Amino acid sequence: MSYVGRLAPSPTGLLHLGHAATFWTAYTRARAHRGTLLFRNEDLDPQRSRPAFVDAMMEDLAWLGIAWQPPMISQSQRLPAYRAAFARLLESGAIYPCICSRKDLARMMHAPHDEDDEPLYDGRCRTAISAGAPPFHPSANYRFRVPDGETVRFLDGNLGAQAITAGSARGTQKPDFGDFLVWRKPAPGDPHPGGLPSYQLACVVDDAAMGVTEVVRGADLLKSAARQILLQRALGLPTVDYFHTALLRDQHGVRLAKRHDALALRTLREQGLTPADVRARFANAKDGSPIAG
Ligand code: GLU
Repeated sequence: MSYVGRLAPSPTGLLHLGHAATFWTAYTRARAHRGTLLFRNEDLDPQRSRPAFVDAMMEDLAWLGIAWQPPMISQSQRLPAYRAAFARLLESGAIYPCICSRKDLARMMHAPHDEDDEPLYDGRCRTAISAGAPPFHPSANYRFRVPDGETVRFLDGNLGAQAITAGSARGTQKPDFGDFLVWRKPAPGDPHPGGLPSYQLACVVDDAAMGVTEVVRGADLLKSAARQILLQRALGLPTVDYFHTALLRDQHGVRLAKRHDALALRTLREQGLTPADVRARFANAKDGSPIAG
C-alpha cells in the first residue's frame, strides 16, 4: 500500500515554530516513503476560523519548503459526509444525546484533566438512555459511548507502544478518556443550524476518505488516537498508523501556542530568518527543551 500523509492545520491563527516542526516531519516522512502528502484545512470552528489564516498557513508552509499535492480539502465543505457518519453511529447505538448544561460541563471541567484534552465526561446522560438507537435530539450534543475499561493499544511510530484506557469518571479506576463529543449542537448565531461534527468525527471520516495511511501530528493529540481508533471501529473504517511528534516549549517551559507571536513563522521570516535557519532551530529542539524566544 502506498503511503498517504496529510497536513491538517486549523486556520485559527498563524503557524508557529512548533507547527513547522510537526509539518516538516510529516513532509519528510511522506518523502522518505515516496508517498503523497495532502492538505486538509480544518475550518470547522465558525467562531475562530478565518480565511486569511488559510492563505497565511499555505504561504508559510510553502516558504518553509513543504510541498503537498492539491487540491486542498476544506472541512467546511464536507458536512454531508459527516452527517452520514453521524447517522450511522446513531443507528447502531454507538452514540447518545447529552443534554448536560454548560454549567454541568463546566463543573466537570474543573476536575483535573490535561491542559489540552477534553475533560472526562462523567457519563450522566449515558445512563439515562439505554443501549440501542436513541431518538434524534436536535438540541443535544452527542457523545460516543466508550467501552468501559477497554484499553486501546497501538504502536506509535515515534512514541512507541501506547495503552490508553476508556471509561467513565464514575468507575473505580480513573480512565484516560471518557465518552467524547462527536456532534455539537448549534451555538446561538451559528451559521450551521444542524450543528457540527466534533474534531474527532471529522478527522476520522476525512482520514478514511482521503486514504490516509499515516497520521503525523503533535503529541497533544496522542490520546485522541485512541478515540479515533474506537470511531474507526464503530464506522467500519480502516485504522491508520500514528506518529506523534514532541511538542516544543518556550524559554519558560510553556508549550508553544498560537499566541506565541514572537515564534510565528511570519515573525521569524520578517526578522530575516531563512527557511534553513528556521528548520535548524526546530531540528535542535528536543522534547521539553526550550526554544529561545
Ligand atoms: N487541526 C488540528 C490542529 O491544528 C490537527 C488535527 C490532526 O492532525 O489530526 O491541532
